[in-house]
Amino acid sequence: MNEYATPTQFIDLESQQGNIRAELETAILKVLDHGQYIMGPEVKTFESDLKSFTGSKNVITCANGTDAISLVLMAWKVGPGDAVFVPSFTYIATAEAPAQLGAIPFFVDVCEDTFNIDKNSFKRAIKEARDMNLNPKVVIPVDLFGQPADFYSINEIAKSENILVLTDAAQSFGATYHDKKVGLMGDATTTSFFPAKPLGCYGDGGAIFTQNDEDAELIRSLRLHGKGTEKYDNIRVGLNSRLDTIQAAILIEKLKIFSKEILERNNLASFYSKNLKNSFKVPFVPKKTISTWAQYTLVSDMRDEILNYCAKNKLPSAIYYPKPLSKQSGYSHYPSVSGGTPISDSLAKKVFSIPMHAYMKTEQADKIVSILLNFK
Ligand SMILES: *Cc1c(COP(=O)(O)O)cnc(C)c1O
Repeated sequence: MNEYATPTQFIDLESQQGNIRAELETAILKVLDHGQYIMGPEVKTFESDLKSFTGSKNVITCANGTDAISLVLMAWKVGPGDAVFVPSFTYIATAEAPAQLGAIPFFVDVCEDTFNIDKNSFKRAIKEARDMNLNPKVVIPVDLFGQPADFYSINEIAKSENILVLTDAAQSFGATYHDKKVGLMGDATTTSFFPAKPLGCYGDGGAIFTQNDEDAELIRSLRLHGKGTEKYDNIRVGLNSRLDTIQAAILIEKLKIFSKEILERNNLASFYSKNLKNSFKVPFVPKKTISTWAQYTLVSDMRDEILNYCAKNKLPSAIYYPKPLSKQSGYSHYPSVSGGTPISDSLAKKVFSIPMHAYMKTEQADKIVSILLNFK
């Protein structure tokens, strides 16, 4: 097959758009016709579609996945003196939101096999935060690369310590944990609709899921400048954080094909793992979880050599993440669990991700596998 005819893409948003282009155009034109660009009817419809999809009692959309985290922390009155436990191996937004509110992001290590927050490291960090006179208030488990964290353990520890659980599901919307859809784990869940996430729009977007009606009401007010009962009645300090009507219209159409896309992503991940497992450390998927495969990530001591080799062979690859948060210069003054976060530090040197999307052709997947297997 001519490689120039179908270059392998890391994420193939063009094929996806091609499949639903007519539906997207109709949906966008409808918004242009009714003109309700802010909080138009599509926003309500999309929130209700998200409720049906996840089974969550309350869904509040917002401007992006980072604001989604901030809005929950604001509803929970997180601020100075509070410790918010965050895995060191994640995207910066997880720590940025608590830091913005004046709280202390407290870095915890992750598990070597799942890349998700390590319960033992979390337990130690709680005690150490207390010893530093901080108030352990929230833990933010991240479902890294689309795979749900170990919620049974994290929820149990958090509950016994009076700590709230905010699930950062920016990468795992659509995933399943013990027969439940992501959105129902922890005290609140946030997600992102950034274009490259498993469910992405054509701009920024985010959402919050909560089973607590009071939190939901508070968050609805916070996303509209702390609105009271009327537009010019401001009863608290909030944010301007709404999902655009046009983005909601796009997401309504993309959600319709999302379940099928998750299946395709899982088929590709299984194909990769079956063929690569003897040569690379392939992702570990715990029992009773279904990942959305935001990334398919391999681990190797020869990472940098492999990436050079991939580039020579025109195989797209990426590193998520090259630096743990505790080592970011804007964040290194925040506390880490004693002994630091050695697993996060080492993963940052060894991980690399290969193309993952729902539109991969069999011959492309074959080619990717054969390129990787030929690495010496
Ligand atoms: C993408 C991402 C976010 C932030 O989402 P935005 O919509 O880009 O603000 C937060 N946490 C994680 C783990 C992410 O991957």
